[in-house]
Amino acid sequence: MSDLRSRLAVNAHTKLSDIDPRSTPGLPDLRHDPKDWSAQQVGEIGEQLAGYQERLFAAAKHETSKSRVLLVLQAMDCGGKDGTVRAIARGMNPAGLSAVGFGPPTAEERSHDFLWRIRRALPAPGMVGIFNRSHYEDVLVVRVHELVPEKEWSARYEQINAFEKELAGDDLTMVKVMLHISFQEQKERLADRLDDPAKYWKYNPGDLDERQRWDDYQRAYQDALTKCSTAEAPWYVVPADRKWYRNWAVATLLQETFAELDPQYPPADFDVNAERERLKSMP
Ligand code: AMP
Ligand code: MG
Repeated sequence: MSDLRSRLAVNAHTKLSDIDPRSTPGLPDLRHDPKDWSAQQVGEIGEQLAGYQERLFAAAKHETSKSRVLLVLQAMDCGGKDGTVRAIARGMNPAGLSAVGFGPPTAEERSHDFLWRIRRALPAPGMVGIFNRSHYEDVLVVRVHELVPEKEWSARYEQINAFEKELAGDDLTMVKVMLHISFQEQKERLADRLDDPAKYWKYNPGDLDERQRWDDYQRAYQDALTKCSTAEAPWYVVPADRKWYRNWAVATLLQETFAELDPQYPPADFDVNAERERLKSMP
């Protein structure tokens, strides 16, 4: 794999603290303004994604394949998950897309195993899913706040790996992306939210308390990324201080994944020539 996936994939030696959130790995030499270039590229890649998405959907409708694709997005607050979903989903057919966000579990969800609500939200065959937060919160916020005893959360890495392996065997291709922003960039984005009444709805005073636990979160991310980056479901870290790079990188990771999956239109399950003749003979 000499593609962006291999450059951004997490392995056992990856250190999150060594990855510069302002860096732009894998970017070709640019002669143009990077923002314009990115917008144009993301548009073009979006058209390709829409084509792949249609073939995926068509193949599942005719039961020639049960493939489905799931983009998992994780990030610190202000990491750009919502903006990424908007950029990626723009070109796609909404009918074949399911975007789901995960907040604190409800009482009902808490009465089940942590993967219960995740299983219910998985994309059906032929669908593309996007998770805005995911089962990884159960080894991130849950760990940082000790919402369950260490014995319980520390067993979850293996449970997650087994779960994701099972899904891979069930024709689900997972693309797990951590949008990696810097401490300073988060401060600027929080300040932007406080400066704009149209962004108050995104702001939560609790975000500042979470910010004070930045290092704990980074440690929890470090473990989640390295313990749960597997051949079946690798993690990618996308430097995300620059939104234009972030959008290009996530679109490219999806494009490369789809190209390898290469979904195909199903063959006709009827006699095309006979149908043509029949139609011709009709008024
Ligand atoms: P937002 O993405 O801004 O809507 O915030 C969602 C909130 O839900 C974040 O503060 C997450 O940490 C929290 N959250 C998501 N999953 C869990 C979970 N499993 N347990 C506790 N909190 C969670
Ligand atoms: Mg929030």
